[in-house]
Order: sequence, then structure tokens, then C-alpha cells
Amino acid sequence: MAAKILVVDDSGTDRKIIKSMLEEYEVLLACDGVEALCTIDANPDIDLMILDLNMPNMNGFQVLEMLKSNKRDRRLCTMILTNYDEMENEIKGLQLGAVDYIRKPINMESLRARINIHIELLKVQNVLEQKLNEQKLTFDMIFDQAPIGIAISQSCDTENPEGTITRINSMYEKITGRTLEELAKLGWEKITHPDDLEEDLKYFRKLQSGEIKSYSLEKRYIKPDGSFVWVYMVVAALTSNRCNYICLIQDISERKKIESNLKYINEHDKWTGLYNRDYLGKMLQRDLEQMQMLKAALISVNLSTVQLLTVNYGFNYTRNLIKKAAVALSRYCNEKIMLFNTSENHFVFYLLDYEDKKALKEFSQVIADTLESLLVTERIGGGIGVLEIGNDSSLNVDLLLRRLLIASERAINVFEKDFSVCFYDKEIEALVDREGEIRQELSRIAFDDNCGELFLQYQPILDLKTDSVCGFEALARLKTEKLGLVSPVEFIPIAEKTKLIIPIGKQIILSAFRFINKLKEHGYGDIDVSVNISAIQLFAPDFTKELLEMIRTMGVNPQNLVIEITESVFSSDYDYINNIIGKLRADGICIAIDDFGTGFSSLARERELNVNCLKIDKYFIDKLMIVGPSKAITGDIISMAHKRGHFAIAEGVETQEQKQYLLNNGCDKIQGYLVAKPLYEEEAIAMLGK
Ligand code: C2E
Ligand code: CA
Ligand code: CA
Repeated sequence: MAAKILVVDDSGTDRKIIKSMLEEYEVLLACDGVEALCTIDANPDIDLMILDLNMPNMNGFQVLEMLKSNKRDRRLCTMILTNYDEMENEIKGLQLGAVDYIRKPINMESLRARINIHIELLKVQNVLEQKLNEQKLTFDMIFDQAPIGIAISQSCDTENPEGTITRINSMYEKITGRTLEELAKLGWEKITHPDDLEEDLKYFRKLQSGEIKSYSLEKRYIKPDGSFVWVYMVVAALTSNRCNYICLIQDISERKKIESNLKYINEHDKWTGLYNRDYLGKMLQRDLEQMQMLKAALISVNLSTVQLLTVNYGFNYTRNLIKKAAVALSRYCNEKIMLFNTSENHFVFYLLDYEDKKALKEFSQVIADTLESLLVTERIGGGIGVLEIGNDSSLNVDLLLRRLLIASERAINVFEKDFSVCFYDKEIEALVDREGEIRQELSRIAFDDNCGELFLQYQPILDLKTDSVCGFEALARLKTEKLGLVSPVEFIPIAEKTKLIIPIGKQIILSAFRFINKLKEHGYGDIDVSVNISAIQLFAPDFTKELLEMIRTMGVNPQNLVIEITESVFSSDYDYINNIIGKLRADGICIAIDDFGTGFSSLARERELNVNCLKIDKYFIDKLMIVGPSKAITGDIISMAHKRGHFAIAEGVETQEQKQYLLNNGCDKIQGYLVAKPLYEEEAIAMLGK
């Protein structure tokens, strides 16, 4: 389309000449300023105006002033064509917005060339403008339809350094729940959660100073109803003068909810709702790092015996008990006392700023009383371990929890009361360490028959009637490279506690059987060998069956075997044990009650025991020398044994006087250092030869 040109001149001749010269354009004519303005109003698409200055009614300057004050379309470009020659007129015209100043008389070629240039320039401007419009349209569309919230703010005002939000899209409005007006009035800091503001401002200042180009963070906006929404936010400077900023936000509430759920699950026990072990670990770690525990303690409540009920009543039953305990224990929490459920049946109190050891003792006792009264009908107990943390830089979480466990386990083991309290100290730890080492060695040895580290020594038993050795007691020995020689007094209880006594006991029985066979080979087929059997072994379901099996496969004569059991085994299930003993005796095996007289109710029940022999404990033999033979009851025990049809062996006989007393009182056999200490196999056989 041809450009539209308006020619304004009071000279009709000039108008005509110009119009005829510009045939390729659409040319409109006006004879003065008033007519020119009317034509411009009626034809907003006029591209160029050729304006005379000196005209009646309204001159060219007035036209330019009017157009300028009306802020009319900037696209209309004006060329002044005048017979005013003065420079100041030219300057004034250009200042009023004219793009060119041409002096009359008209030089046709020059005028045409200039018009062409301005028209071309206009064309280029038009194209550029159109492109810009298209871009703006695209930008607006993206801005409004974006699935993320976008806000643009301006902040060149020193009064208001955080700036004013000038534009937001609908998603920003939706996420924040705020209109542009509200946002412009409040500013973004007022709607930022106070806990998140400091960080946000810190970054924003850096952005403003040019230190960074953009930043992102997760923060909360406060909505008009007071609730808040979590967003992921990116803020960047839009212009190099750092006055305009763009802020993009994405609603991450759902993710945050999942995260906080996960956090809760990670930090709490599902069943009791108390903080869990991981969380305790984290807390201790933090406090250790910050050395905040100058006066902190841990109290562990170990309800391990609760597990026994699970077998009878099922998981739900015990779980409910644990929950009941959790509720009861929670009552003692306050800002300085926290409670954790560190494993199914372990609770831990974490106490800060406690007064002194006495206060810890009292607190533990209150806990013990509470649990005792809560669990009295279940007849379950437990242990309470106390650990004063102190201020030791070598401490770590693992060590603390281990020490705490040591104390609470000790509390269970050592005392008989339902819930007793044990404070951690170094000696206990050393004991537990040693126990651990022994346990390790035992578990290695238990399933390795040929290691030679577990072996037997044999202590002779002397028949007082014939004054000759009639048997041996097999006594277990443990000697390893790591531990050296370990007394059975130390390792047997550990083997019992860990049930390792079952495989180890089998090895012992087999060794003893080999010894019996060896004796036979050497012509001592009538010598007995006594083997000590623990209650755990005796209660193992297949004990009798397996023992008889071993007797058969090894070709041992059951008549040569004596089984020593302590009378305490009868306290658990009297009938069951008596029944087992009956079976063994029926097979020809001899049964001896070991350490007789030390257990409870022994004398009262002795009559009913289905045994052959009583081994009178060393205590009563030692007593002989202390109270004097006339006052000792040892003789009474011997005669009582005889009345029940049992024979009697005196243990731990060390002196001739003791032997004499025992002879005088009709004791059948004696065993002790007077006869011999426990001997190696070869020594034992050699002794028989003498
Ligand atoms: P025990 O069955 O009462 O064994 C007698 C203990 O008294 C042995 O200690 C023996 O060496 C010691 N003894 C013997 N005569 C005298 C004496 O005149 N004076 C003194 N002071 N002591 C004497 P040992 O060998 O240390 O065994 C200790 C305990 O370990 C045994 O007591 C027994 O309860 C247990 N034990 C040993 N071997 C085995 C085993 O193979 N199986 C089981 N279950 N327990 C065993
Ligand atoms: Ca014994
Ligand atoms: Ca004994």
C-alpha cells in the first residue's frame, strides 16, 4: 500500500507542484493548520506531513505544538518546508518533533529524495514495531498461561528497597491467594513466612548488589486466611540496572507434606508414637558436637522379658503392653526430659540439666515403681540402666548407647527384684567386654570339634572303703590363643546364657566317652566318669534321645557314666526333670546331685529326687574345720543320704582331718586336692596304675 502524505501549505501553487511530484504516494492537501489537524484526525493512517510554517489561522509551529501536546501518534513524521531561513526556526521546528527542515524555493529532486528516505524509514519502523507487537503478544500469552506463578517487581526506590510488585500472572495469584493490588500494597516480605524471610532477604540483597544473578530457595508464603503455602522460588534480575526482577514460583506443598510425613516416620516409632532410636542418635550426635551435655544423662528401660509373653499371647498382646508402658513413661517427660522408644522393648529417657546422681537414682526408682505396678499382673520385670554422659571428647553416640545397654542388661542379670537400677561404670564395661570376647571364642569353638581349645581334665574320686580311685569327674577347660586359660566358672555361665552350652556340652560328652573307652582299653572297665550337665542341656527337647544315641554309637557302657546336675534344676520343673532322670537311670546311667546343700529346699525335697548320689558341697567340708567336727552337720547329711538310699561323695577335700571325719561318718567317696587336682588324660590313667 502506498504511503499517505499530507501536504499543508497556504500556497495553492506549491501544493499543486508537490502533489504532482509525488504521484506514487497518496497525497492529501490542507491549506492551513486548522484544516491540517482536521485531516489528521480523520486520517489516522497518514505517514508523513509536509508542513509550511508561515500560514494564516494556525501556523506550522502551532500545528506541531498541538500534535505534541495531544501526544498524537508518534508515527506521523513531519518535514518542515518553509521560506523562513533563520536557524532558530529550524531548531525550534526540530525540537517540536519535526524530522527535517527544508527551505523554499522547492528543489524538487532534493525534496523527493528526502521524502523517500523518511518513507523508507517509516516502513522499517513499521516492520520493527509489528515484530515487537508480535513478541509482546507471545510474552503475554506465556506469562498468563504459564503453569508456574510469575511476578515482576520494580525496585529503584531507595525508600522501598524490596520494590513493588507491578505485574503477576494468574498462577501467582492462585498460589499466593493474593491480588496484584494486595501484593503491591503489602510487598513480598509481609507475605513471606517469618522463618524464611531472613534467608530470602539475604539473597535478595546479593542480587541487588550484583553479587549474584539469580537465586532459588524453598519458602512459605502466608495466604490471606493465615495458612501457608510452600513454594520453590527462583528470583532473577531482569535488567542490567537491577531495577526489575522476575520471581517464579511453583507450589511444592504436596511434596513438602510427603517429606514431612517421611520425616515423622523416620523419627518416630510407629506403634508408640515416641521418638525412635535414629532420632535419639541424631540428637546425641548434635549435642556431642556442640558439647551441650555438661549435665546430661541417659536412662534406659529394658523390658526384654516382655518378649517371653509373645510366645504365649501373641504380638498384639505384648505390643499393647509396650504401648501401655509408653503412655505411663511419657508422663515423666518435660522440657528437660525426653522419652524415646529405641527398639520394641527398650525405652530411653534423655535428661538434660539434672541435679545430681541422687536425683537420677530417685527418678529411676520412680520409673521402676511405675513399671512394677503397671506390669505386676504380667509378672514381668526388666532392667533400668543409667549413664551419666559427662564431658568427654572421646565419646560418640555408639559408645553412649552401648554403655547404656550394658548398664540396663546388668540391671536385669544381677538382681532379682522386678525392676532394678544399675549405673554404668568402667568395671561393668570391662566385664561385658570380657564376656563378649569369651562369647566370640565360644561360638567359634562350638562348631569346631577338633580345635583342641576346649578339652577336659579329670579329677579322681576316691572310694573310701577300698581307698582306691573309683572314678573321675570330667571338668571342662578352655584355652585359646587370645584369652589364655579360662576357668569354667567364667565360661560355662556365658555358654549357658547364649545356649552355646548345647553344642559345647555335646563336645564335652563325646570327649568324656572317648576317655571312658580309653580307660577300658587300658583295662579299667570299672572306672566311672562323671560329666556335668547344665539345666539348659537337660531341658533341650532331644537331650535324652541324643545322649543315648551317642552312648550307642560310641559303644560306651552306660554303667560307667555319671551325670552331675545341680539341684537348682529341680526348682524349674520338678516333675519334668524327675521324669527325664528316671529314663536315664532306667538305661543304667548314674545321676548325682552336684553342690548338694547349697540350693534351696534341697534337704526338704531330697527324698523325692530320683537320683543315685549326692555330692556334698565343698562348703560343708570347709565347715568341718571352722566349726569343728563335733558341731558340723556334714555327718547328718551323709546319714540322711544313706537313709534315702543314696550314696554320698564329699567335694573339695583338702586335708587329712577332713578325710578322717568323712571316714568316721561313713561317707562313701571323696574328691579333692587331697586326692589330686584335676589331671590331664594321661596323668589320670597313669595315676590308676600306681
Ligand atoms: P563342680 O562341678 O562343683 O566342680 C568342682 C570344682 O571344684 C572344679 O572346679 C574343681 O577343680 C574344684 N575342686 C576340686 N577339688 C577341689 C579342692 O580340693 N579345693 C578347691 N578349692 N577346689 C576343688 P572347676 O574345674 O573350676 O569347675 C568349676 C565349675 O564349673 C564346676 O563345679 C562345674 O559347675 C562347672 N563345670 C566344669 N566343667 C563343666 C562341664 O563340663 N559342664 C558343665 N555344665 N559345667 C562344668
Ligand atoms: Ca560337678
Ligand atoms: Ca560340685
